[in-house]
Amino acid sequence: MDYKDLREAMVRDQLLPRGIRDPKVLWAMEHIPRHLFVDPAVQSRAYDDSALPTADGQTISQPYMVAVMTELLDLRKNDKVLEIGTGSGYQAAILSILAAEVYTIERFADLAEKAAERFRTFGYPNIFVKAGDGSLGWPEEAPFDRIIITAGAPEIPASLIDQLTPQGVLVAPVGDRHSQQLIRLVKAAGELQRTYHTPCVFVPLVGTFGWQD
Ligand code: SAH
Repeated sequence: MDYKDLREAMVRDQLLPRGIRDPKVLWAMEHIPRHLFVDPAVQSRAYDDSALPTADGQTISQPYMVAVMTELLDLRKNDKVLEIGTGSGYQAAILSILAAEVYTIERFADLAEKAAERFRTFGYPNIFVKAGDGSLGWPEEAPFDRIIITAGAPEIPASLIDQLTPQGVLVAPVGDRHSQQLIRLVKAAGELQRTYHTPCVFVPLVGTFGWQD
């Protein structure tokens, strides 16, 4: 299978027609080998227009959703980024080539370990992974210029807003357990500015400042 061709087709058929325009995001999506982040059983579907299963009943997000969230984050090359919900590690890999450092937290230890192994094996030295409840953030490493939550939250955890730099940007799917909407929050001086974006469906953020399981 020619994965390079499949990646080009993914950008051409899934991302451009739906309005992804940031050249940095398109470049990252065209270069990061998504098939290396999915289980061998679903590798042939790695570039399909859909989410795919990972271990523990979780998912790797649809390529378009990864692209939209990355575009909304508006990354700069010196940014320190926090991701909640490592999953396969694919979104973290995309972030890592557009920013300086990525800190990513996964609730399931086996997924965190598998992602860490992918980062070591495939060469992503600026991604740092830990297993734990990401709804609490990563206080020892705060503040972060950008925060992305890749699991559906009932609301944006205050703990994470606290860990954003001034003018920092946070992107998260917020809603009920079965459907959400992407929210982009900017921590502007004296106020939080929110804008509302595409509807989406993510697995739930389960934790202290998420859903109780
Ligand atoms: N970004 C991932 C997709 C994540 S799916 C990728 O690129 O593949 C959402 C992930 O969030 C799941 O793996 C789930 O286990 C994890 N998750 C849910 N609640 C969490 C929490 N409180 N802290 C950390 N991870 C959480």
